[in-house]
Amino acid sequence: MRTILLVAATCLLVIALAPFGSRRAVAADQQGSPAPAASVDPRVAKLKALVDSDVSSPAMFDLGQQMNDMVFSFGEIGFQEVETQKYLGRLLRENGFTVQDGVAGIPTAWVARWGSGQPVIAFGSDIDGIPQGSQKPGVAYHDPMVEGAPGHGEGHNSGTPLNIVAALAVKRVMEREKLPGTLMIWPGVAEELLGAKAYYVRAGVFKDVDVVLYNHVGANLSTRWGDGGGSGLVSLEYTFEGETAHSAGAPWRGRSALDAVELMDTGWNFRREHLRLSQRTHYVITNGGDQPNVVPRNASVWYYFRETDYDSIKNMWDIGDKMAQGAALMTNTTWKSRILGSAWPSHMNRTLAETMHANIQQVGLPKWSDDDLALAKATQRVMNVPEIGLATGPIGPLRGRERIPDEEKFGGPSDDVGDITWNVPTVTLSYPANFQAGPGHNWANAIPMATPIAHKGVNVGARVVALTAMDLLLRPELVRQARDYFENVQLKQRKYVPFIRPDDQPATYLNTETMARYRPEMRKYYFDTTKYKTYLEQMKAQFGYSYPTVGKSTP
Ligand SMILES: [Zn+2]
Repeated sequence: MRTILLVAATCLLVIALAPFGSRRAVAADQQGSPAPAASVDPRVAKLKALVDSDVSSPAMFDLGQQMNDMVFSFGEIGFQEVETQKYLGRLLRENGFTVQDGVAGIPTAWVARWGSGQPVIAFGSDIDGIPQGSQKPGVAYHDPMVEGAPGHGEGHNSGTPLNIVAALAVKRVMEREKLPGTLMIWPGVAEELLGAKAYYVRAGVFKDVDVVLYNHVGANLSTRWGDGGGSGLVSLEYTFEGETAHSAGAPWRGRSALDAVELMDTGWNFRREHLRLSQRTHYVITNGGDQPNVVPRNASVWYYFRETDYDSIKNMWDIGDKMAQGAALMTNTTWKSRILGSAWPSHMNRTLAETMHANIQQVGLPKWSDDDLALAKATQRVMNVPEIGLATGPIGPLRGRERIPDEEKFGGPSDDVGDITWNVPTVTLSYPANFQAGPGHNWANAIPMATPIAHKGVNVGARVVALTAMDLLLRPELVRQARDYFENVQLKQRKYVPFIRPDDQPATYLNTETMARYRPEMRKYYFDTTKYKTYLEQMKAQFGYSYPTVGKSTP
């Protein structure tokens, strides 16, 4: 799966493509790396064992499960993570963290901090859902909770709960042992829009941060270092303006903005043949006019321009502007554009990945039940992919390369954590809260995300993250080495220049209407922890099905 191969660069669920990505697998995995020597300090081993047994305890397992299920039930999409923010913020405040809301000019963004002094360890993960993602968890065919509604068809409901469990366990040991250091937890708001992290960087959220421990849901337990090999992007909406007229009575007096949109799209689709193989472009028409008998005065089209390096992304942007200019000339309209999101291709830190990998080997994969396996295989059958079930060992070697040659990069998804990786030493953990079945951004990817599969994946992930944080707290030489790699290896390749310009602002209005439309119906299914221990129990009460429900096929 690409989560293994490209964990750094590929949000946007990567789980789907793995068995079929063999060419990339060969290309990206040639250079392994041995794990670093483990600490011989008995105090380090003792405190790590303490933290590990805390995270593994039934109480902490249940806390992770409850947060995971609650965020799943909210199903909120980018910039609308209101209930998620309230719920997690309250929980963190109750546990001694100070929480700042509305960071970087984004109302649903927040940063929680506890402790003082160095090192500053920042735990991050995405938090938003996707459109059309509504799905009853534990049902192995398409069965939305609310037809047409958004949901966690990417699995972003699991990562911040994972981080909170890890940070609470680390905090307890720090308090007891009086260890210096600061723990920071932050959510990747609107990741599916690549909408927030460049603004976090610009607002100085990571100014005093030593390391970022990032995670993303996947189908296995892994990390990697170096060039992520994936795509970055700019997301731009082009808006054209013309003049209305009676479409039948006096069409010659109108100037159609919709014509401009269609000509821009046509131009782009011809030009596509002559772009590098590593580019990926997609668009939706966000405004196609009002009604046919009124010549459209305004029309808009929203593009994602993806490429594998900064210069190529800027070049795509330039070509996009020329297409807009040409379309405006042909239609006697005017055009303007707005940046809605951006992401740098990622680069993960070698020292942090080596440290994390040693802990991955220690923790290992969860033990899956027959029910877990039945759900995975039934979903794989429905999705017409190999019935490989769930991840089992052994854990593979650590992968990474400082630089992957251009000719080995084929493009793919993006994650705006890329911007953070060029500002702070960062590593990403992929944890097995899902299985390989759905195509990503799809209801099928939501199926396991509030079941024991996700709960177990979150708990093993939290153990790895907590153990890695303990290493960084207790072994300052690791933080120094991570900084050394960042400054003397990674930044020797190139320096960060944001895609966003000084006047650009986060597009926080996005998804407002969609969420307002579906929230009243979705609210009926918010997880009620006063009545149910798990969300599956609530599903049984509300819909009358049990885990796992398999057997029906999707047309
Ligand atoms: Zn993602």
